[in-house]
Amino acid sequence: MITKKIQKRLFGTNGVRGITGKELTPELVMKIGASLGTMRKGRIAVGRDTRTSGRTYINAIKSGLLAAGRDVVDCGILPTPALQYLVKEQFDGGAMITASHNPPEYNGIKIIEPDGTEMGDEETLKLERLIFDEPFSTHTWDHIGHDLNAPRLIEKYITAVANHFTGKPGRGMTVVVDPGSGPACITTPRILSLMGCNVITINCILDGTFPGRLPEPSEEGLQNLSSLVVSSGAVFGIAHDGDADRAVFIDEKGQFVEENQEFAVVAQHICRQSKGTIVTPVSTGQIVEMIAKKENCPITFTPVGSIYVARTMLSLIDQGEHVIFGGEGNGGLIFPDHQFCRDGGMSAAMMVLILASTGKKLSGLVKQLPKRHIIKDKIVTPQGEKILEALGVFYSQNPIDRTDGLKVFKDDSWALIRSSGTEPILRIIIDSEKRETGIAFHEELKQEIQKIVQ
Ligand code: MG
Repeated sequence: MITKKIQKRLFGTNGVRGITGKELTPELVMKIGASLGTMRKGRIAVGRDTRTSGRTYINAIKSGLLAAGRDVVDCGILPTPALQYLVKEQFDGGAMITASHNPPEYNGIKIIEPDGTEMGDEETLKLERLIFDEPFSTHTWDHIGHDLNAPRLIEKYITAVANHFTGKPGRGMTVVVDPGSGPACITTPRILSLMGCNVITINCILDGTFPGRLPEPSEEGLQNLSSLVVSSGAVFGIAHDGDADRAVFIDEKGQFVEENQEFAVVAQHICRQSKGTIVTPVSTGQIVEMIAKKENCPITFTPVGSIYVARTMLSLIDQGEHVIFGGEGNGGLIFPDHQFCRDGGMSAAMMVLILASTGKKLSGLVKQLPKRHIIKDKIVTPQGEKILEALGVFYSQNPIDRTDGLKVFKDDSWALIRSSGTEPILRIIIDSEKRETGIAFHEELKQEIQKIVQ
C-alpha cells in the first residue's frame, strides 16, 4: 500500500506558499476561506505563526469562512501542531496561516482536517475546484457565521504534550530552546519546564521580522544556540522552524545533529519500547532503515511529504498494523500516540525522555549510530520528467524504486532523483556507506544528466 502523489494547481506538498503581495494576496486567502467554508461544516479553528503578514491573512481567511456561514474560533499565534491538536480534539476543521521554514517575505496556508491531519490530495483537489472553477457559497445576513477569539486554548496543547511524560524526567537537566522568534516561544519552553528541565532560551520573543535567525533552523543559523549550549552546560539545544512542526538538535558539545541521525536516535528508542512499523519517505537516510532492521521493526516508505507519511500511518493502522513511529529526515517527527502530524514540541520532550532513560549524552547516542554519507544537490532544469525517464532506462539493470521520482540502488549506495512539483528543479540525494562511492555515483549522475539535456 503506497499513497501516490497527485499534482495540484495551487497547493503544494505542505499547503499554499507564496510571497506576500505577489503570489499570495488577501483576495486569494479570502477565496480559500470561503471555499473551505463551503466544503466543511461546523466550527473551524484558525491560527497563525509570527509573520508580519499573518494579521492580514488571518482576517482574510476568517472573512471567507464567516461569509460561507462557518463559525470561526481564532486561536491566535501558535505552532501548527498545536492547532492540529486542537482541531483533532474539538473542531470540525482548521486553517493555519504559516510559511513554515520560508523567509519572512513568504506566507501560506495549511488546511487541517477534523482528525488533525493536513488535508490530503483528493480533498485538496475538491477544494481547488471550488476556488478556481465553481462559485463558493456566501450567505445572507441571517446565516453569517460567528467568530470567537480563544488565545488560551494553546494551554491544552502544552498540557497534552507534557502529560505524555510523567515523573518529571527532565529534572536536573539544563536545555536551551531556540524557537527562532516563532510560535514555539510560547510552547516548547513551557513543555520542557513542566517536565522538570531548567530552560534557557534564545530568540524567544515573538517577532515576524525574525531578527535573530531565519525560520529555517540550519546549522549555520544556529551558531548562537550552539555557543549557549556549551557555555551553559546544557544537555542539548533545540531549534524549531517557523511553525514548530520540526525540531533540530545541538548536542552538549555544541555540534549540530544531522536530522537523519536525530530521526535514528528517536527511532531506536521507540523501537526498544515496543515493536512495530516505522513510516517514512523514500528520501530519508539509510541510517533509519538500518536502525529499524537492527531493532526488528519493519519500515514502510512513502512519497516525500509529511502528509503522505501521516496518511500511510493511518491506513496501515486501519489494516491492523502496529505503527509505532513516523517522520521525515528533516526534523519532522510523528508520534502516533499523540497525533498524526509532525510535532516539534513532542520531539523536544521525547529527547528529554531519551536522555533521562538511557543516561547517555546526546553526542554519545549519535556516535553509536552506523556511519553514512549524504550528498544533496539540485539542478535547475525544466526537463525534469525527461531526465527521470532517461535515467530509468540507463539504470534499468539496477534495483529501482519509483515511490517518488527515481531511487536507484547501486552497491553500498542509493540515489534519489526527484522533480520538484512547483519549480523547474531536479533534486538529488545520494546516501552511501563510503564517501568515495557516493562522490562517484554523484559524478556519474551529473554526467548522464548532462548527456540527456544536450
Ligand atoms: Mg514547518
